[in-house]
Amino acid sequence: RKLFASEVNFVKGVVNMKGLPPADRPEIAFAGRSNVGKSSLINALFNRKQLARASGQPGRTQEINFFSILEDLFVVDLPGYGYAVAPKAVVDKWTAFTQTYLRGRTNLQRVFLLIDSRRGVTDVDKGIMKTLDRAAMNYQIVLTKADKLKKSELDDVMEGAVQAIKKHPAAHPRIMMTSSEKGMGLPELKAEIVALI
Ligand code: GDP
Repeated sequence: RKLFASEVNFVKGVVNMKGLPPADRPEIAFAGRSNVGKSSLINALFNRKQLARASGQPGRTQEINFFSILEDLFVVDLPGYGYAVAPKAVVDKWTAFTQTYLRGRTNLQRVFLLIDSRRGVTDVDKGIMKTLDRAAMNYQIVLTKADKLKKSELDDVMEGAVQAIKKHPAAHPRIMMTSSEKGMGLPELKAEIVALI
């Protein structure tokens, strides 16, 4: 299966349940705070330069963007969330629609929750994790921009993430570490995706 060497097509941007494409194939979704490196990671994984538009303005996109890989998979780019002083406000605002989507989408196999290695798991991220727990949605932490840290710093971030997921029943026990820029961790992440479909 040439999942990662195939043409990727933008399907649509969706703002309500009625707009969702048919749940007729496996689906994976990517979430994370604005600027976490989500667009870069999706583009690097699926070998495209302009698949997901890099979002310079935090919180701008509230659409859920659907891409299709052959007839085999939907790849979903969830709205980035912000970073207010009060994490609860951010989580509450992470569009009612996104939360409804997470609860109701039967073909959604896993959410990859991106965490910036330089910041580690923040209170806002933990709030999002709670939301995913409540939606009984499987999710897996993916650390991004690992090239920006030294080995010892990466070890600390990894340990922090390991501790964080202990309190979250829906979190996958394996934490991925990636760099879109250097290609680090991408083969492992691709293997996780292939195993889902
Ligand atoms: P998004 O808002 O989550 O979609 O984030 P983007 O993919 O637009 O990336 C945000 C910023 O982080 C951009 O300036 C990227 O160049 C940078 N970035 C993304 N991934 C990496 C990475 O793996 N390594 C480094 N050093 N920078 C990255």
